[in-house]
Amino acid sequence: GVQISNLSKRFGDHLVLDDISMNVKPGSVTALIGPSGSGKSTLLRCVNLLETPDGGSITVGSQTIRAGDRVKDRELLTLRRQVGMVFQSFNLFPHFTVLRNVAFPQEKILGRSREEAEARARVLLERVGLADKADQHPGKCSGGQQQRIAIVRALALNPRVMLFDEPTSALDPEVGVEVLTVMRELADAGMTMIVVTHEMQFARDVSDHLVVMADGHIIEEGDPAEIMADPREERTRRFLNAVL
Ligand code: ATP
Ligand code: MG
Repeated sequence: GVQISNLSKRFGDHLVLDDISMNVKPGSVTALIGPSGSGKSTLLRCVNLLETPDGGSITVGSQTIRAGDRVKDRELLTLRRQVGMVFQSFNLFPHFTVLRNVAFPQEKILGRSREEAEARARVLLERVGLADKADQHPGKCSGGQQQRIAIVRALALNPRVMLFDEPTSALDPEVGVEVLTVMRELADAGMTMIVVTHEMQFARDVSDHLVVMADGHIIEEGDPAEIMADPREERTRRFLNAVL
């Protein structure tokens, strides 16, 4: 799983994450919600050290990184390998085919042979219904297809945990559903996930734990259905009213 302990992060004199602690059990799905600017993306980015935390620690599996520690390249690589991340924008390589997009990171990061990486890529593409896109370029794929390719590209590295930052918010609702379906299957298969989302139905149906952030703090957390039905905090209520 993932343990975040007393994490803090500032940009200049703006404290963006203030003493955040969170425990994500292996095989569980945590949904992270809250108003714009509350620190959700920064929190995810701290988990795989795309941002450097100023305080606290992060544990993924057996690896702990403490703020202030000098992180060696090898440790960073180990961490990144364990943590798959999917963003709102898909960030696929436009000049590669879909197959190469999924195979290339496996070759670079895991040292798999091209043959082995492409075989794995084909299995995963098949699993998300994109086997027929393997030899096309991502530009020819719909947004929903591209996002599924991005998910599969991350999965191909056998991560211990998957982080999703609003993976459907750039998509039309119809294609967003395809992506949410893949995420639901991933959750059912036991993947540990942290998902920043405004998709409240997904949060209620798929996540095991709901965390509400505001102003760099966790203001409320618990059972998703319970919080949605009866939030304790006025700020949670206001946020839910805006998105539901
Ligand atoms: P949204 O729902 O809009 O995606 P968020 O909850 O993901 O919002 P963050 O992107 O984590 O919020 O941003 C939290 C705060 O940190 C914001 O006030 C933002 O302006 C600030 N911030 C984020 N990244 C940087 C940066 N690189 N430099 C300075 N400030 C930043
Ligand atoms: Mg964000």
